Amino acid sequence: MTGPIAAVASRPRRRADLAALEGYHSAQVDVAVRLNTNESPFPPPSAWAEALAGELATIEWQRYPDRHALGLRRAIAELHGVAPEQVYAANGSNEVIQAVCLAYGGPGRCAAVFEPTYRLHSHIPTITGTRVTVGRRGPDLSLDLAEVRRVVAASAPSITFLCSPNNPTGMLEQPDSVAEVVALVEGIVVVDEAYGQFSPWSALELVDDERPVVVTRTLSKTWSMAAARLGYLIGPTWLVADLDSVTLPYHLDAVKQVAGRLALSYQEEMEARVAAVVTERRRLVAALDDLAVEQWPSAANFVLLRLRRKAGAEVWQGLVERGVLVRDCSSWPGLEECLRVTVGTPEEDDAFLAALAEVVGRS
Ligand code: PMP
Repeated sequence: MTGPIAAVASRPRRRADLAALEGYHSAQVDVAVRLNTNESPFPPPSAWAEALAGELATIEWQRYPDRHALGLRRAIAELHGVAPEQVYAANGSNEVIQAVCLAYGGPGRCAAVFEPTYRLHSHIPTITGTRVTVGRRGPDLSLDLAEVRRVVAASAPSITFLCSPNNPTGMLEQPDSVAEVVALVEGIVVVDEAYGQFSPWSALELVDDERPVVVTRTLSKTWSMAAARLGYLIGPTWLVADLDSVTLPYHLDAVKQVAGRLALSYQEEMEARVAAVVTERRRLVAALDDLAVEQWPSAANFVLLRLRRKAGAEVWQGLVERGVLVRDCSSWPGLEECLRVTVGTPEEDDAFLAALAEVVGRS
């Protein structure tokens, strides 16, 4: 007879290089007006939901889905006028970035980011064993090319992240700056365009088989499909083949493939949603000006702001108490006392503005 199983002397520890790693934090508070995660305020078109229900009935549930998600890739390729071999899709654009880091990062390699920027651009390299070199943006939070040159010369990054419009500043990267970064680096340049549809310029025009540039996009924002978790990248064919080689088999389930492919046939409806958000952003920006709130020029569906003489955390709490949730960026380096608010419906934005006026004592 065997004896009782000996108690484990010490619990296994995660990798030593992850000792300082914290998970992704974004407060989820149950309030009526949620303007903290940059989703679309509109649901997808009802015709899409009906078409999806029809196609779901035809799924062969006992079978694995199309491993290469060809129908979806073709639809994305058609949308952007590229070849399906230039398209890589995954479970959200975060997972696309993870595939880039798995293929081109890892031990002995590094990724460059220019803070403040999207936090997952450092988090994902870290969890894939890729060292992160941090450059700083200029005092107005725009990309500082001298700093880019310094970082690239010092660390020769295998992956350089740009974000246009940048999250959380909302600011657009200028076409000539992006072109200059591409000319400067030897590794991959990722231009994260999660909010690309809200802005007047896209780095898609730089993508071809000669340059190691990729543009990432998501269906979570413009396409009103954050719940579906679907993102993609347009890049050189050789790079897409590299990403395919590090991807788990059947990573995109059948429902997601159908949902994404169908969504792309409602381009006009989606463009109308983008136009409505941009119009509403202009109204929100003007109202914030009236409240004398400091803000940065946004080409996205959110606005970064700061109140004079009020601590960001205090304003955030005051808004939550009035039923409005925004993103508290006040403790992020370079963003002291800043908050980020997503453009919502006119009603949601009115609720936010009324709450903010109360908090700043202007109502
Ligand atoms: N990139 C940026 C700049 C983002 O802000 C976000 C969402 N917060 C993502 C990527 C991730 O989007 P997805 O839902 O496609 O993973």
